[in-house]
Amino acid sequence: MTKSQGNGARNSNRHYCTSCTSVTRREALGGGAALGIAATFFGLGRNAAAQSKPHRIDVHHHISPPTWLDAVKSLKKDNPPMVNWSVQKSIEDMEKGGVATAITSPTTPQVTGLDKATAARVAREANEYAKRLQTDHPGRFGTFAMLPLPHIDESLKEIAYAFDTLKVDGIGCMTSYGDKWLGYAEFEPVWEELNRRKATVYTHPTGANCCVNLVRGIDEAYIEYGTDTVRSIFSVIFSGTAQKYKDINWIWSHGGGALTAFAERFLVQAVSRPPYKDKFTREIVDGEIRRFYYDTAQIANPVTLSALVQLVPISQIVYGTDFPYRHAADHTKGCTDFFKADDLSKIDRENALRLFPRLSAA
Ligand SMILES: [Zn+2]
Repeated sequence: MTKSQGNGARNSNRHYCTSCTSVTRREALGGGAALGIAATFFGLGRNAAAQSKPHRIDVHHHISPPTWLDAVKSLKKDNPPMVNWSVQKSIEDMEKGGVATAITSPTTPQVTGLDKATAARVAREANEYAKRLQTDHPGRFGTFAMLPLPHIDESLKEIAYAFDTLKVDGIGCMTSYGDKWLGYAEFEPVWEELNRRKATVYTHPTGANCCVNLVRGIDEAYIEYGTDTVRSIFSVIFSGTAQKYKDINWIWSHGGGALTAFAERFLVQAVSRPPYKDKFTREIVDGEIRRFYYDTAQIANPVTLSALVQLVPISQIVYGTDFPYRHAADHTKGCTDFFKADDLSKIDRENALRLFPRLSAA
């Protein structure tokens, strides 16, 4: 199959979700579990997978280190799930969803909005807390270190400490910082260093300056997180950052946010117009989209997963939950109902093991 046949044809020989024809639209979008509707459409045998020995690796699991939580409260950016988080709640939720290991990160706004010195201190203390959590519960946690971005020198220091001293599993950063997205030249020293270390960079959406409280009554999480994610993906690809730093393993949250809806604009429109026309081809952009990783948090429904598997290979999809904003059991059910068994084992664990080989022994 040639690339010119398009994404729609790419996986046309696959057939997912054999039960989807009898699933109502509300259930297809995740309403069944959330609204307490009996899951009579789904086979009990498949759901048994959730009760087997925990083996999943959750790349999207939020914790609230005390120093960081105090800092977020000082910014008045706290919310009940982050305030009420506890280690015990994490472990209980992991057990219910069959999660063996959660790679942790504080959620948005991380340290955005703090002054440079405070951001560096809070990131350091939060990273040390996450590492202690990992040590205190062998095999159950991993760490995506937080960086005091957009402060470059302080972030480079934290990268060195996080990898050389704490031995973290990767970096967790925001999709944007104020009015800067990840492909902006200001961030290049950070990507250069992370590329040298062949690092995994997990990204999490946030509300950029342009778009906070944009529409009255709409929480940023509902729409803005998905669009900020796709802005950042565009920025990383069309700045040339992704091509230049090939050894970074990018993970985009929530299946890449709105990427599945906008990919055609990347692949057809952007590559045929200035200023990208002479620098990028459809094949180049498609190659980057297909090498990134995408987590399943907030998208474990047949509608969005159907689109994602048409756009990227199964090898690039990793299990994520967004705990404590969502629950592992919901995502385990959503993924288990949708994917074939051999694909599911890749998404639940095997794909993530390529990023975190130390967990192979767990
Ligand atoms: Zn999240």
